[in-house]
Amino acid sequence: MLEPPPRVRACALELERFPAYVYDLAGLGEHAAAIRTALPNVEIFYAAKANPDPPILAALEPYVDGIEVSSGGELAHVARALPGARLAFGGPGKTDEELELALRTGVHRIHVESPRELERLAAIARRLGHEPGVLLRANLDVTVAGAALTMDGPFGMDDAAIARCLELLPRMPWVRPYGVHAHLASGLAAPVMLELAGRIVRWADRMDAAEVNLGGGMAVDYRAPGERFDWAAYGAGLARLAADGRALRVEPGRAVAAYHGWYVTDVLEVKHTRDAAFAVLRGGTHHLRTPAAKGHDQPFAVLPRWGAAEPDGGPPGTATLVGQLCTPKDVFARAVPVGRLREGDLVAFGMAGAYAWNISHHGFLMHPEPAFHYLTG
Ligand SMILES: *Cc1c(COP(=O)(O)O)cnc(C)c1O
Repeated sequence: MLEPPPRVRACALELERFPAYVYDLAGLGEHAAAIRTALPNVEIFYAAKANPDPPILAALEPYVDGIEVSSGGELAHVARALPGARLAFGGPGKTDEELELALRTGVHRIHVESPRELERLAAIARRLGHEPGVLLRANLDVTVAGAALTMDGPFGMDDAAIARCLELLPRMPWVRPYGVHAHLASGLAAPVMLELAGRIVRWADRMDAAEVNLGGGMAVDYRAPGERFDWAAYGAGLARLAADGRALRVEPGRAVAAYHGWYVTDVLEVKHTRDAAFAVLRGGTHHLRTPAAKGHDQPFAVLPRWGAAEPDGGPPGTATLVGQLCTPKDVFARAVPVGRLREGDLVAFGMAGAYAWNISHHGFLMHPEPAFHYLTG
């Protein structure tokens, strides 16, 4: 089980409406400050797709060099939430409208995904009289042991497509190439990330890249909530790679924001079906899809509400924590120890700060949306 920080626990116990997301912005700021300190020679762009909620963006802004956005929607949203922030625009399938929006917004870098996209960007930039700074997104042929997701397939360009871009670029001198972008996998620990970074940098050296964006994907282990990506080791390794004057940039999302969001709800009923105990919670995976999407037990804390004087609900046991949706997939955690969980008790799911609310299918079954609370101290 998890132990929420005292300010999260206190807030949860005072809530009047469930479910609720509680964001520990004070903790998030401290975490981001520690990452900033660990990576002194590297630019950090937060990947907005992990959690684009404006208070989250504002809490991170002092500690990052910019924000990475992956759609025109994110671009417009972040430009509104953090006016003046440096933006990098990546992602497959950029439309002409999105490219034009990026140019008019004055984004810092555009990550080019294909020779065709480069041609379309060049034509739009020429028409608008803009000189966009671009990185070529590489899809390197590397196997990545232990990755949660490998970004092969349609993302970025293989060697032939990169070579095609290098032929095109001299014919479009108003497009300014700065280097390479490579986001190859996610869920990696620092030693593997560093090995990958070394390979990307050596590859980028062939084309004299002044800038290398190493992507995100730093590991978050939902089965070991106390463990953290080793930012200090990663930073020390990257400092060695940056030593010969190359600008390095990373764009983490999950490992920045995951730890400081909590989804807090109450137990509607504890019921038994044959040998199995189920705690039915208010809400469900339409608010917190992460455990269903990634196939893990979402870590949680039980916050008993009725005080020690109340009769307890029998011996401590295990239960499967489910939500209100009419689907067997609506499971937060399976057969997990829950102590003496009773109707009315609270369950606070941790590690719900990234790829949680914003990846969930909110409209399914039309239950009310959660409330949102932001703790600043
Ligand atoms: C999703 C994504 C990221 C962030 O990945 P995390 O696993 O959240 O760190 C960074 N860059 C690109 C291109 C992405 O698609």
